[in-house]
Amino acid sequence: MTDDTAAGTRSAAERDRSAPGRPPKVVIVGSGFAGFKAAQSLSRRMGDAVDIVVVSPTNYFLYLPLLPEVAAGILEPRRISVALAAALPACVRHAPGEVDELDLDEKRIGWLDPEGVHHETTYDRLVIAAGSVHKVLPVPGVTQYAQGFRGVPEALYLRDHLIRQIELAAMSDDPEERAARLTCVVVGAGYTGTEVAAQGQLFMKELAASRGLPEEPRWVLVSRGEVLAGLDPHLAHTADRVLRERGVDVRTHEQVDEATGDGARLASGDHIPTRTLLWCVGVRPDPLIDELGVEVDQGRLVVDSHLRVPGYPEVFACGDAAAVPDLSRPGEYTAMTAQHAERQGKLAGRNVAASLGHGREKRYKHRDLGFVVDLGGFEAAANPLGVKLTGKPAHVVARGYHLISMPGNRIRTAVDWTLDVLLKRQTAQLGLVRSPAVPLDSASPEVPQHGLGFPHAAAPGSRRNEQHGEQPQEQRQEQAN
Ligand SMILES: Cc1cc2nc3c(=O)[nH]c(=O)nc-3n(C[C@H](O)[C@H](O)[C@H](O)COP(=O)(O)OP(=O)(O)OC[C@H]3O[C@@H](n4cnc5c(N)ncnc54)[C@H](O)[C@@H]3O)c2cc1C
Repeated sequence: MTDDTAAGTRSAAERDRSAPGRPPKVVIVGSGFAGFKAAQSLSRRMGDAVDIVVVSPTNYFLYLPLLPEVAAGILEPRRISVALAAALPACVRHAPGEVDELDLDEKRIGWLDPEGVHHETTYDRLVIAAGSVHKVLPVPGVTQYAQGFRGVPEALYLRDHLIRQIELAAMSDDPEERAARLTCVVVGAGYTGTEVAAQGQLFMKELAASRGLPEEPRWVLVSRGEVLAGLDPHLAHTADRVLRERGVDVRTHEQVDEATGDGARLASGDHIPTRTLLWCVGVRPDPLIDELGVEVDQGRLVVDSHLRVPGYPEVFACGDAAAVPDLSRPGEYTAMTAQHAERQGKLAGRNVAASLGHGREKRYKHRDLGFVVDLGGFEAAANPLGVKLTGKPAHVVARGYHLISMPGNRIRTAVDWTLDVLLKRQTAQLGLVRSPAVPLDSASPEVPQHGLGFPHAAAPGSRRNEQHGEQPQEQRQEQAN
């Protein structure tokens, strides 16, 4: 690799830029939907005529829509984590690390690798696809007592946590403790909160029955708006109906005012005793964007319809991190969805290639082809090409859509789904991820905070820590277990 560690970086970076005959270097930040697709589309167009470096803390692409199935014990986490090396051509290099420096004027980028070594390099083109992190509202107690749901560590934590609550409830003679352990509160009814509540409730119900508990676990879904507000009404109404029919306590036009060690207090005054508070109120763009000094809108990097950052013709941005004009709805930006991120990433690859003399640029225009919402069991809602589906047909369409959309691991995923129909779910809780490792206010929900590696954990005084107010691990309170 020509990238350099901090020592002697500047001269090496200058050498790097002026090396005669070298292929242009394109650095892509992030290996999610947008970054992965950008790398794939660019490498297909230019092959060895370009040097592509993907900087990302994980060496895999994470298929986030199936994360709730990992928490529910249906899928093993590696099924939805597709290794970059297996799915991208060999000409794409992966630099493991988290970008902590971006100088758009100098065309220089720096990142910290998992062993704490800083690297820098220059680029000819840059694609920013750093995605998003949890949106944390200023609600007392939430950062201490709530957990988010954005990465594999959080899904693994939740799976173990739910099993543990059932087992501790089964051993308790105190009815109040049992009730609290068997109650889960999910805040936010977007696709994350809705799918987590749907999958989690079924999983916990099965667990409780298998341990001979007489009570049914209680799931409460709290949301300021309607369930799946903003999505097609058919999807929203189906999800709302299915959840209520299953016994989920859906409380719309409600919010959590305070989280405490023993429960959640709602705006209506109700106090819900619980040991499980899941914060799914939405996402905000990765904090990296705040630091760039260019125009942002609600934290998203403003780009033109070619995905270029105004004033920096060599810089492109896409996915959740970018505010991309929605040409089909003038005046609005595209929503933060996997569909948009994937298609924008593909276009970013095309437009970067065009800017390097390969092919022609295009503007981003995408018409919605439909959406799928998995509700666990055989329930789902889908509207492919506007056709309204519910129940088993929607379930089949949803699973088919996921399999087609995943860039790898399809057979393994399908096998896990088949096993889930034939066998009981595995309930060994390995306890490898505990709550301090998955803080809600993390700038990097994709990696567990074990005190190793990236800046937030390795160096308490690091720049990202100071800017984003991350607490040292020891200040975090481990929830009951
Ligand atoms: C549980 C869940 C379920 C969802 N379900 C759906 C669904 O059903 N349908 C749908 O359309 N959308 C869904 N979404 C939303 C969808 O996943 C996102 O819109 C999509 O992932 C955005 O893609 P992205 O590439 O912009 O970001 P991501 O996929 O989040 O990728 C961001 C990448 O950037 C990396 N990164 C972040 N910071 C840095 C840094 N400083 N340096 C280097 N790399 C960095 C990350 O590690 C990651 O690789 C869901 C989201 C969640 C959390």
